[in-house]
Amino acid sequence: MEEPGGLTGLSGVDDDGFKIAPHGRVRLVDHMGGDAAVVQAARVSYGPGTKTVRGDRGLIRYLMGHGHTTPFEMVQLKFHVKCPIFVARQWFRHRTGSFNEISGRYSVVTDEFFVPEVDDVGVQSSANRQGRSMAIDMGAAQFFVNLVKQAGEEAYEHYSEAIDNDIARELARIVLPLGMYTQFYWSVNLHNLYHFLELRLDSHAQQEIREFATVVALCARDVAPISFEAFMDYRLKGVRLSRQEAEIVRARLRGQEPPEDPFGGNIRERDEFEQKMGLL
Ligand SMILES: Cc1cc2nc3c(=O)[nH]c(=O)nc-3n(C[C@H](O)[C@H](O)[C@H](O)COP(=O)(O)OP(=O)(O)OC[C@H]3O[C@@H](n4cnc5c(N)ncnc54)[C@H](O)[C@@H]3O)c2cc1C
Repeated sequence: MEEPGGLTGLSGVDDDGFKIAPHGRVRLVDHMGGDAAVVQAARVSYGPGTKTVRGDRGLIRYLMGHGHTTPFEMVQLKFHVKCPIFVARQWFRHRTGSFNEISGRYSVVTDEFFVPEVDDVGVQSSANRQGRSMAIDMGAAQFFVNLVKQAGEEAYEHYSEAIDNDIARELARIVLPLGMYTQFYWSVNLHNLYHFLELRLDSHAQQEIREFATVVALCARDVAPISFEAFMDYRLKGVRLSRQEAEIVRARLRGQEPPEDPFGGNIRERDEFEQKMGLL
C-alpha cells in the first residue's frame, strides 16, 4: 500500500513508539476494534452472517465512498504524543478527540525544545501566506537555527533561575518559547482521526505537524488496514472537483473549448485547479 506521507523527521521506532527528531514521539497506547468492528456495525441489521473478506472490503469501501461514517466511529485509538507546543496547539484544534496534557503548573518543564534542521528552514512563502518557501540562502538558514538554539537555551536558563528562586511553576513557565516540548494523551475514533489526517497530511499543513500526522497514519493503518486503504483511495488521494473545475474537465474530455475564466479571475482557484490536474 502507498505510504501516507513523507517522514523527514522520523528517526526510529522502539518500545516507546516512533521517534520524531529531535525529541518528539508518537506511541499508540491502546485501541479498540478494527476493520471487523466497522463491518460489524454496518451489518447490524443483518447479524454477523458469513460474509467473505472480499465482501467486507467492498462494504468498507462503499461506506467510505458514500460518507457513511458512523461505522468508523466504532474504532477507538489512544496515543501518547510528545511534540513541540506549536504543534500541539494545532493538534488541539481538533475538538472531536479527547486530550489530557502534562501540566506545567504541577511539573517542572524539561530542557527540551525544538530546533529545526537547516534543510527545513525556509523563507516566507509568497504563494501561501501561512507557508514557507525553500528558496533560502544556507547561511541565513544556519543563522536562524543558531538563533533558535540560543533563544531556547537562554529562555530555559531564565526558567531555571525562576524555579531556583522558588517562583511558582505556573508563572516561571511563561518565559519559555513555543518550541518547548509538551506531552499529551489523545483518544480519538477512526472517523475523526481520518478527518485530522486529511487536514494535517495536506501539503498546506505545517511540515512539523505533518510528520506527526504521518506516524498517526501508520498506526491507524495497522489497526484497520482495509479502512485505511479506503480512506487513502477515496479521501486522501482522491481528487474532488468544484463545479467550475468539473466544467473545464468535461469540456476537455469532449474536445471542446473550456469556459473562459470560469474562476472569475481568482488566481488561487486557478492555481489549485492546475495542481489537481497535475495529480491526474
Ligand atoms: C492548513 C490549516 C491552516 C489553518 N489556519 C488556521 C488559522 O489561521 N487560524 C485558526 O484559528 N485556525 C486555523 N486552522 C485550524 C482550522 O480552522 C480548524 O480549527 C482545525 O483544522 C480543526 O478542524 P475541524 O474543526 O474540522 O476539526 P474538529 O474540531 O475535529 O471537528 C471535526 C468536524 O466536526 C464538526 N464540528 C466540531 N465541532 C463543531 C462545532 N462546535 N460546531 C460545528 N461543527 C463542529 C465540524 O464539521 C468539523 O469539521 C488551520 C487548519 C489548517 C489545516
